[in-house]
Amino acid sequence: MSKFNKTPFTVNVWDLMHQPGELRERELDIVVPEKMGEGLVAVQAGATLEVDARLESLHDGILATVRVDTEASGVCGRCLKDIELPVRVEFAELFAYSLDEAFDYQVQGDHVDLEPLIRDAVVLALPFQPVCRPDCPGLDPVTGERLEDLPERAPQEEIDSRWSALSQLLTEEASTDTATDGATPSASPTEREKS
Ligand SMILES: [Zn+2]
Repeated sequence: MSKFNKTPFTVNVWDLMHQPGELRERELDIVVPEKMGEGLVAVQAGATLEVDARLESLHDGILATVRVDTEASGVCGRCLKDIELPVRVEFAELFAYSLDEAFDYQVQGDHVDLEPLIRDAVVLALPFQPVCRPDCPGLDPVTGERLEDLPERAPQEEIDSRWSALSQLLTEEASTDTATDGATPSASPTEREKS
């Protein structure tokens, strides 16, 4: 058996080993030693992982069925505001007794080490483009100001610059309609454009 370091992620399974059918449930509160995730949000060092582990003795090894609840923090991908997100992951993995290529994980001594599994599952669960809310309007592309803080002005300016030609046409059409419905239905297009 290979040597290993006992950490908060290692669980003693000596009383389950080679006892098929035996079952233990363990609850662990683990303080994250080192940040999980490299994106806009991550589970920061010092955050707590609430781990519910169900450990079941099978003929080949120990089956660990694990649920982890924690919180990720970072920034919104659109407006860069600080955000916190709940994270829940669940997985099941067999820790084999023997060095068998069929299994990725092994019982080490009389322990199983949940750290690589928990770390991989948590990192995979983190959103790639986290948002503070689904309809976050983001930042003004010109000024970089948070649009949420400028609910009236900023979107209006954007529409004006992009659609000024179209809105001008619409205004002309509207005045044409007014003229047609008005008191001088016989007026020619040329006369209307002048007025
Ligand atoms: Zn946002």
